[in-house]
Amino acid sequence: MPVLSIDLGGTAIKFGIVEKGSLIDASQIPADAKGKLETNLERASEGLQRLLSSHQIQLNQLKGIGISFPGIVDSVQHRVISRYVKYGDATGFDFTAWGKQHWQLPLILENDARAALIGEWQYGAGKGYTNIGMITLGTGLGSAVLINGKLLRGENFIAGNLWGHTSVNLNGGLCNCGYVGCLETEASAWVLKEKLKSYTGYEQSSLFVRDIVFGDVFNEAERRDEIANEMMKQCLHAWGICAVNMVHAYDPQLLVFSGGVMEQASVILPHIQTMIDKYAWLTPGTVKVVKSEQVAYAALLGLEYLITKNNEI
Ligand SMILES: [Zn+2]
Repeated sequence: MPVLSIDLGGTAIKFGIVEKGSLIDASQIPADAKGKLETNLERASEGLQRLLSSHQIQLNQLKGIGISFPGIVDSVQHRVISRYVKYGDATGFDFTAWGKQHWQLPLILENDARAALIGEWQYGAGKGYTNIGMITLGTGLGSAVLINGKLLRGENFIAGNLWGHTSVNLNGGLCNCGYVGCLETEASAWVLKEKLKSYTGYEQSSLFVRDIVFGDVFNEAERRDEIANEMMKQCLHAWGICAVNMVHAYDPQLLVFSGGVMEQASVILPHIQTMIDKYAWLTPGTVKVVKSEQVAYAALLGLEYLITKNNEI
């Protein structure tokens, strides 16, 4: 039976109809993440309604609806339990009631990194593996872990989700979470503009004039901008440390990296692989580092799998 999936992101909301690991159809709209969560869900629902009509699928043919959210999620009670910089009213929101009222469908809610990991595990780069760590490099840093074919959730649903807020620098700066030296303060997109200012002569860098994304850092490094080159090396080193730490914590067979910056996978992945082979307490080559395959819609696919398994993963 097909399901409806909604992937709530900070900048875009993706939604689709999924069946047996295939997208019947999918689309996306810009997120109004400063607006009300319910308004955003309604806008996504209108889009889904259009997709259902164009494929002549009736509500009674659907198995359920899944939603992924970029924050800590109680996947038993289907509640968002940590405040996120966006969708400020999400913590009080009753997703189950919304699913019933709006769609007359059972609903599951999961953290977006976990949903994407399930999508990659079942239908992408993680096929055939049972122990996987996944890291999404973007504005922030998302992460999730699968151990022995089960999602790692922990007592309070934070397990494996907070690699962006593990500290990698004793003398690091203050993070937006209140902790110091977090991986996000060393190598996530939101910190790049501020990081640039720590370099002498940064006004001369070609990065100075814009809102910086990772792609700019790599492109300008290739054009021999020295500061961009230093920043790139710093990011690669931080991601490598993150990967080694993850290997030591969870002993995965595979680490999957995703995010727009994976356009530079040919630079990033060998660097991380070398660091793991050099520093992890394992024979070199034991852990494989790859990029995601279901780049755009991993979470939508993962939600479908979770619904078909009644969320018992
Ligand atoms: Zn932090």
